[in-house]
This record gives sequence, structure tokens and C-alpha cells, in this order.
Amino acid sequence: MVAFSWDVERVVNSMALQLVKQFYPTSVAKETGLPLEDTFSSLIDLVKQNKLILKWEIRCPAHCARTIITLEKLPENLSCLSCTCGEDYEEITSDMIYPVFEISAQYKAYLRDQNCKKKHSKRMGTLLPI
Ligand SMILES: [Zn+2]
Repeated sequence: MVAFSWDVERVVNSMALQLVKQFYPTSVAKETGLPLEDTFSSLIDLVKQNKLILKWEIRCPAHCARTIITLEKLPENLSCLSCTCGEDYEEITSDMIYPVFEISAQYKAYLRDQNCKKKHSKRMGTLLPI
């Protein structure tokens, strides 16, 4: 554990509490001010801890830039995709593939629970007779 991964985790936790469903590594890098590489490796650590789920988006490289499909696994031989803009792709190239992180439902529930308990115990504290 190095300090920058704590920054990444802090941002992820606050997004989880704001009910963000999924996010891109670039937005976390922007938020923390860390290099994308460090951000990405910290996010991968969170995937290993089952806090996040890594998915892959295939985006239309035409100017529509729509997400054509979101996959659980990096495609090895995916072909023949068509976008709703009318473009057909026989081959999927690496510039069409984008990693996206989803916050796992269990982790979200855990954070919410912790957050609620914290708030509750604080409130209880003020109610205690001195
Ligand atoms: Zn398109």
C-alpha cells in the first residue's frame, strides 16, 4: 500500500457513496491529480479486493463515439459489430477498447452501512447526558 493508492481509494469511496455506478480511470486521475498509470494500477488493486469490477467498453471510433457494447472480459477475437449510427466494424482495434470500472454492489452496501453507523454513533454521542 502506498499513499497514492489511498487517494484513489478515497475518491472511489466517495463516488460509491454518491451512488456512482461506473467510472473511467481518467476521471479518478483527474480527481486525484495522479498519473493515469498509477491510478490504473491502484484501481486494479481494488478489483483484486472485489471492491471494483473491471469492464471493457467498445466505442464507436466514428464521431458518434457511442459505446457499442460493454464486456466483462477483454475480447480476444471480437468482430462484426455495428453501431446504431450505421457504422459496421469488421475488426475491433485497440483504440476502440476502453476500460471502465464498476463499483461492486457488495462494496457499496458495505460503505453505506459503515457511513450510516458512523453518522448514527455521532448523533448518539451528542444525545448522551453529560
Ligand atoms: Zn457510431
